[in-house]
Amino acid sequence: MATWVFSEEVDGGPTTTALELLTKARSLDGEVAAIYLGEGSDETFAALGDHGATTVYHIAATDTLAAAGIAAALESLIAGGSPRIILFGLGNTDRDVVGRLSARLDRPVLANAVDISASGPVAVTSEILGGTTKVVTEVRAEAPALVIARPKAFPAEPSGGAAPTVIPVELPDRGHAGEARITSRHAESSEGPDLEAAAIVVSGGRGLGGADKFPMIEELATLLGGAVGATRAVVDSGWVPYSMQVGQTGKTVKPGVYIACGISGAMQHLVGMKDSGTIIAINKDPEAPIFGVADLGIVGDVHSVVPALIEALKTKS
Ligand SMILES: Cc1cc2nc3c(=O)[nH]c(=O)nc-3n(C[C@H](O)[C@H](O)[C@H](O)COP(=O)(O)OP(=O)(O)OC[C@H]3O[C@@H](n4cnc5c(N)ncnc54)[C@H](O)[C@@H]3O)c2cc1C
Repeated sequence: MATWVFSEEVDGGPTTTALELLTKARSLDGEVAAIYLGEGSDETFAALGDHGATTVYHIAATDTLAAAGIAAALESLIAGGSPRIILFGLGNTDRDVVGRLSARLDRPVLANAVDISASGPVAVTSEILGGTTKVVTEVRAEAPALVIARPKAFPAEPSGGAAPTVIPVELPDRGHAGEARITSRHAESSEGPDLEAAAIVVSGGRGLGGADKFPMIEELATLLGGAVGATRAVVDSGWVPYSMQVGQTGKTVKPGVYIACGISGAMQHLVGMKDSGTIIAINKDPEAPIFGVADLGIVGDVHSVVPALIEALKTKS
């Protein structure tokens, strides 16, 4: 029995989530293998090995949305390899593949997992109701258990593992029926630290009042060496790009310090940042739900508190 981890190449390597899942997989049952979709390189495979994969099933990148073919190929691999658990992240391809695999194998998918145990029957702890409640589900269906885990649920820790055995996997020829082709790729440019990896995140919400007020959030983040986040309300209003959205339908962050400026603290936002180390909230409404998760709260107007913080930091540096 083994645990497999699905990993799609992003920016030339495995995602942090895939490395987190490989780390978790090491503590589960038996061998660990990665299913890697992308160009692949010695460096990439070494990183997968260093995080626990002893085998990499390598599916070469294509210019098609290949989830249907990948699910078919995985069905054959599973028949030969008998994994007990297959872990997926929240990426679009992850979800596309696991949904199709679920239909092919007639197995349920357990989503939003924040913990997994395999010491007895596979048991998956999931967050429901926007992360406010945890439930533990014991998987009684035939293996493999199909699990989608939340980013940052586990730390990514190298194990010093050796380079893995790489096994190329051919996708079955499905002709062109129903095939969606990738015609172009657009990488959103961003400055400063990566939002999902930053030690400090400063996020702005609708309380800022307008797109023209957002630069003060960016200035505060820059002075602190942090990354900039935003709520969906701000992103939907077009003040900043979607790549900055924190929350249920955006990114999950877990910085040492999270500063929420003019953010109400809706459940869908909290689910993406509530596990941050120290949460500091600035809101003019003392009843705002964000104060329920904040370690430090400033009841005040962002337009006076944030400039005062900026001034204090500038004076200090
Ligand atoms: C399916 C679904 C998924 C969602 N996914 C996400 C997600 O991923 N991320 C996300 O963020 N949201 C998400 N949302 C939206 C979420 O429900 C909230 O609408 C959103 O988070 C609110 O954003 P906000 O806090 O910026 O705005 P508001 O809720 O409008 O809050 C603004 C806050 O600013 C305060 N304020 C106003 N003026 C000032 C001032 N001058 N100084 C200080 N404070 C001030 C107000 O007191 C208020 O608390 C989702 C919703 C749904 C239905």
